[in-house]
Amino acid sequence: MVTATEQTHLTQIRHYLHQHPELSDQEFATTKYLTDKLRDLGYRIITPTDLKTGVIAEIGVGNPVIGLRSDIDALPIQEVTNLSYASENDGVMHACGHDFHMTALLGAAERLAAEPTLNGTVRIVFQPAEETHVGAQEVTAAGGVTGLDAIIGFHNKPDLPVGTIGLLAGGLMAAVDQFTVTFHGVGTHAAMPQLGADPLVALAATVGAVQSIVSRNQDPQHAVVVSVTHIEGGNTWNVLPESAWFEGTVRTFDQKARQLAKKRFIEIVNGQAAAYGVKANIDWLVGPDVVDNDSRLTKIVVDESAKHFNVVAPTPSSAGEDFAYFSQRIPSVFAFIGSHGNSDWHHPDLILDDAGLVPAVEWYYFNAKRLLAELTE
Ligand SMILES: [Zn+2]
Ligand SMILES: [Zn+2]
Repeated sequence: MVTATEQTHLTQIRHYLHQHPELSDQEFATTKYLTDKLRDLGYRIITPTDLKTGVIAEIGVGNPVIGLRSDIDALPIQEVTNLSYASENDGVMHACGHDFHMTALLGAAERLAAEPTLNGTVRIVFQPAEETHVGAQEVTAAGGVTGLDAIIGFHNKPDLPVGTIGLLAGGLMAAVDQFTVTFHGVGTHAAMPQLGADPLVALAATVGAVQSIVSRNQDPQHAVVVSVTHIEGGNTWNVLPESAWFEGTVRTFDQKARQLAKKRFIEIVNGQAAAYGVKANIDWLVGPDVVDNDSRLTKIVVDESAKHFNVVAPTPSSAGEDFAYFSQRIPSVFAFIGSHGNSDWHHPDLILDDAGLVPAVEWYYFNAKRLLAELTE
């Protein structure tokens, strides 16, 4: 089935997409490119009009309806790979490999279109705006995944070799929460702190204290990350400012840990504020949930994948993925597929191995057919 021609064809598609990256929710040229390709293959384009970018298309008839998902957006990163097919859009780069995902899904769409018959319907879901974590919601709100019996997707994994697939039931990628905290005190002369209420000492103490959520509150068997990533306060050496703020993120792999982290964070911040005589304002932004692989479906996908690839149980990633929005609503499986990169996601020098495209095509293709067969009533 795999031919040198298929590899060359896929490589060409990926290099074209890599050269023409577009930011989240602005993937207009990408959308047109994908729509044209799918139409040429004989797919029915059913993209809801509410969807500005992204493509939904179907082939086959009747039940079951199996969704295959790829994201399509790039990142605001200046590419430094020196590749012959490097990004032509200044300051925008496919640094997460969504070009790899799109190419794999187009390749699978092509193989499925070549089948004499399909035992049901395959729906191709090219989802916009994964990086800003709104695309899966946009697709869902527009009705793009309504009626699906199952949906599968993957993220390329630069640290896995080509031909290796990472699969596990349960939490594969972390729930993402984001926080911003502002401490309001009373500004004063640096030489007379007793006349004010210093937000900087409160902030410094709090940045250390919130780490105790990981070391003292959470179950040591369950991974939790608390990262303060940005601090601002004051602007000169001899004045204590009126306010100071910091922001950061919390990553968890189950609901219990997620709720506990939030509860303790708020208690600690308010406790520190009280201790130092300042007021705290906390903004808590709820991001994507855990990418939670359905256990029954994962069993089927692992069984099918093991016929063709080296299947490993991967270390869950503390990065987030808005496929979670689908996985909370539809039985789903998300995989890691080896892309043998020189670096990691979101790095400006990331180069992926095109040899990983055929296994990714086949992963979609074989599992789509298997799920069509398995989920028939
Ligand atoms: Zn990314
Ligand atoms: Zn990504």
